[in-house]
Amino acid sequence: MSNDMSNTGVVVTESSTPLPAGVHLPIYMDNHATTPLDPRVLEAMLPYFNTKFGNAASRNHSFGWDAEQGVEKAREQIAKLIGATAKEIIFTSGATESNNLAIKGIAEMHRERGNHIITQATEHKAVLDTCKKLEKQGFRVTYLPPQADGLISLKELEEAIVTEGPGKTILVTIMYANNEIGVIQPIAEIGKLCHAKGILFHTDAVQAVGKIPVDVQKDNIDVLSLSAHKLYGPKGVGALYVRRRNPRVQLSEQINGGGHERGMRSGTLNVPGIVGLGAACEIAMNEMEAEAAREIELRDYLKNKLEAALDYTQVNGNMEHHLPGNLNMSFVYVEGESLLMGINDIAVSSGSACTSATLEPSYVLKALGLGDEVAHSSIRFGLGRFNTRAEVDYVSDKLIDVVLKLRELSPLYEMVKEGIDLTKIEWAAH
Ligand SMILES: *Cc1c(COP(=O)(O)O)cnc(C)c1O
Repeated sequence: MSNDMSNTGVVVTESSTPLPAGVHLPIYMDNHATTPLDPRVLEAMLPYFNTKFGNAASRNHSFGWDAEQGVEKAREQIAKLIGATAKEIIFTSGATESNNLAIKGIAEMHRERGNHIITQATEHKAVLDTCKKLEKQGFRVTYLPPQADGLISLKELEEAIVTEGPGKTILVTIMYANNEIGVIQPIAEIGKLCHAKGILFHTDAVQAVGKIPVDVQKDNIDVLSLSAHKLYGPKGVGALYVRRRNPRVQLSEQINGGGHERGMRSGTLNVPGIVGLGAACEIAMNEMEAEAAREIELRDYLKNKLEAALDYTQVNGNMEHHLPGNLNMSFVYVEGESLLMGINDIAVSSGSACTSATLEPSYVLKALGLGDEVAHSSIRFGLGRFNTRAEVDYVSDKLIDVVLKLRELSPLYEMVKEGIDLTKIEWAAH
């Protein structure tokens, strides 16, 4: 398939060298933020904007039946990808809502049993902010710190579990794979531990589903969040897997209305979106293995090329338990903002998060122990289905060029090169 994403209307002016064949600017390499819609997904969705516009809840005419058929097919496609049954899939507006429904829904439903929840410090904000809200309501939340490589310690998890009294642990929520550093947690072991202790296990599997094999049975998962736009489906639609047997998970609904989705999530279904999510899951099911192999090859090529040309780089996150398309790398002694400006025809993410007009270093990178400067100098590459080797070549060449130029201007880099130990320097307070 060709990658024709050149018609974005963005005009990039300064182009010193002619572009290699097949490369169009700007280049999209930020597939953890969102993925482009696969044309085959769009194809599957189109009829549901047109002739099949019915409300899936309309039970007494063919317009409703057509829509319902589309929805039920999608439920099967999603269930198959994660080893679930169709009845265990609840549609939502995306993973933010799925995470809210899972965590608040379980906390509310099981409050009598205990008030303790365990999560980790490097979760997505959709999990962290939900947990913070529950803390205000009297729940106690443990935020496990990651080890330096981004993996949580199973021993620390086990030690955090409370099995007796009103402070009993009712829920563990640990993400499958991290959206910044691509680290894959030992999900099956975590699930096994939770089940042995009678604790429900939720996982935010947004970055994993469709990229690596996910199986709710083998992985001992009770509740799982996923989102269509992270696997080449449309934005604004997601799902929550809710286990029905061994154990049967009960959660309190967070949106009240017509009792759709087995009473767990009311509201007229987003039929075209749901059909798109289903189609995206079926494509992922068929192509995941080949796609993962291709992305790993591109990722390693990118990494090796950057490491060969530049000193003082550092890869963040355990590379053995790692998403195929992710590379998070720090370019030490380079100022993060200048780095991003230098590669403004390439869409990647930096180790800085814009919060209320200030640039904060990424809390995920900080949790791994990175200093602010190193975190700011980090780049997250998110390779995806439509990235090509020619694009990786362009990106790495450009980045190497920019880093070398910026380091020429960097007094710190000069000092390091001259053998001065920066940790021994006393900086003026500021
Ligand atoms: C994108 C993302 C979310 C949020 O999903 P939306 O569907 O955009 O609400 C949650 N968790 C992770 C890990 C993500 O990457």
